[in-house]
Amino acid sequence: MFMLASLLALLSLAIAQPLSQERVAAQPPPPPAASPSPGPEHHDRAPTDIFRLQPLAGGVYALFGRGGNIGFLVGPDAVLVIDSQFKDIAPGIVEKIKSVTDKPIKYLVNTHHHGDHVGGNEIFRPFAVIIAHDNVRKHMLASPAEILRDGPGRLEQMKKDPSPNPQNIQALTEQIEWAKKVKVEEIPAPVLTYNSELRIHVGGETLQIWHTPPAHTDGDTVIYFEKANVLHMGDLGFIKVIPVIDAAHGGSPRGYLAAIDNVLARVPANVTIVPGHGEVTNVEGIKVLRQYIEDLTGAAQKAKAAGKSKEDFVKEIELPAYKDWNGYPARFKGNAGAAYDEVR
Ligand SMILES: [Zn+2]
Repeated sequence: MFMLASLLALLSLAIAQPLSQERVAAQPPPPPAASPSPGPEHHDRAPTDIFRLQPLAGGVYALFGRGGNIGFLVGPDAVLVIDSQFKDIAPGIVEKIKSVTDKPIKYLVNTHHHGDHVGGNEIFRPFAVIIAHDNVRKHMLASPAEILRDGPGRLEQMKKDPSPNPQNIQALTEQIEWAKKVKVEEIPAPVLTYNSELRIHVGGETLQIWHTPPAHTDGDTVIYFEKANVLHMGDLGFIKVIPVIDAAHGGSPRGYLAAIDNVLARVPANVTIVPGHGEVTNVEGIKVLRQYIEDLTGAAQKAKAAGKSKEDFVKEIELPAYKDWNGYPARFKGNAGAAYDEVR
């Protein structure tokens, strides 16, 4: 029973978002290039081998699987990992890391609380200190109450849908059951939390870890590896993917602009950037994302100034330049609504 409860705990964190229409849209996007492409080598892969490893610099790697991109640092005595994706694949993540080093995994940093970034925490908890911003712990511990508040209504909606999705209904039903029973101490939340800034020293490498203005959520963390000159941006980084702006957990389009500016002002122009979703990039790649958010907030401002209602604005707006980004149909209108709510 404990196993089941734990499984559901993670399941629920993974899909704790879909408790309203907008939050369904806020589901973590599928990693566009993270899955193996079906090709000639397809049959040579073990079905569970969904991982792709990309060495960067100074012992820092990017690891693509399912969910938010993982970063990890191999130090002389210890390994530090950024984000844990989902529980079902977390053992595979550990295995993949072990394929490049026999050093123990001692630290896990969560960039924020979404289930595609913290879903594997339980697997890491026995051996790694889990570190994140204060609000990540807060949101993870609040998850059962949120599910009990929003879940039953959402379940009703799902059942009324003309073409109901039995898998989603089953998952949400299980979440609600889990939320009724789970004990706070069973939730694999970070045990070491910080408010504004933290440094971690692993061998000769120093990691600058800081909290940005609320952007994707109000618990966002970025991690800069000084020596390797690599930055992990968590979900402040979406490359050719429409971002999730989780307004229900403090996310904000204007905050996104401020957060990107805050981060880019602190790192060298030639930094290598691991985004939460999409391929490894650089400052130019992040500037494209910034431009998207600026275009969106600009359009919202213009519409509001012209007296257009939110409903009309959201219905009418399109930004064709970004239509080929992954997640445009699912999330663009949600982003537009969040932008409209914020501008004056
Ligand atoms: Zn996220």
